Amino acid sequence: MASYGHKRPPKRKKPTSGTDGDQPPAADIEPKNSSTVWYKDGSIILQAESTRFRVHHTVLAQNSPIFEDMLNIGEASGEDTVDGCPFVILHDAAADLEAVLRALYDRRYFDTHEEQPFGTVASILRVSKKYEIQHLYDRALEYLTDQFPSTLAGWDARLYRMPRYEGFTFDVIALARELDLARVLPAAFYRCVELYGAAFVLEGLRDPATGRVKRLAPHDQKVAVLGMQNAVTRSLETTFAWLKTRPEVDGCEDIYECDDAMRDISDALWMPFPRCAALWKWQGEWNKSLCKKCIAALKEMHYEGRAKFWEQLPACFDLPPWKDQ
Ligand SMILES: [Zn+2]
Repeated sequence: MASYGHKRPPKRKKPTSGTDGDQPPAADIEPKNSSTVWYKDGSIILQAESTRFRVHHTVLAQNSPIFEDMLNIGEASGEDTVDGCPFVILHDAAADLEAVLRALYDRRYFDTHEEQPFGTVASILRVSKKYEIQHLYDRALEYLTDQFPSTLAGWDARLYRMPRYEGFTFDVIALARELDLARVLPAAFYRCVELYGAAFVLEGLRDPATGRVKRLAPHDQKVAVLGMQNAVTRSLETTFAWLKTRPEVDGCEDIYECDDAMRDISDALWMPFPRCAALWKWQGEWNKSLCKKCIAALKEMHYEGRAKFWEQLPACFDLPPWKDQ
């Protein structure tokens, strides 16, 4: 029986994607044929966990140089067969492999214009990276970075196509760590602390469907909590430098009135606890109590500072600068 387990991703002790990890070992379960990927005219059978997939050697080889090499070596060495087809065991999660095989055979399955569950995106990234299915990997990564981008313009044009659930950004961070998707991490960490705050980061989030508590890895909990503080502190020198210095704007219609307005905005943001607002756009409500001259000048300062903050975003979370990622 041929068995290929090379390049297993780090930190994954066993294939658990799509399962809750409490399943009995695959060896104890009678293998079953996949209900979604089983082509009668297929020329090779793959098994992941206890699921078998009947597919075509040529389709795998055309899409993946790793599969191409693996299958050629297997054929040359006279591997085992099942139902007259060469048979290969892969050390991947069945759900991960199924997602990639379905995406290879049916373009509609992973239509990147449509809403896709995070689990499908994660499965496709995991397996397409391992087997170097470049076109699929690129599509899935673009899908993820549309929501967790590496540019400020991308952040402002984010596309929310993956349905959110409790602990969603925790899972995005864990996947980015697992697959070394460095450019996803700054936006994912920022979104995490913007959404949850320190208490949820430390205590975790309970999934109402399963009752399980989701948490970041211990190191990433620390990164997130310290990152939140860093983001607030750095925002005072960048995005909100205008609130820290409260400048007198040339031509201001009423410097006392506008100074009071800035102090009120500042209090609302930082009292009683500082809010993580470093990437906020200029808020319409700030226009209500500032004069026109101040609005124009301070808005410009705000956006200049916000762009500077974006450059510092990776540093908030102990990550390398954008240019080194
Ligand atoms: Zn003014």
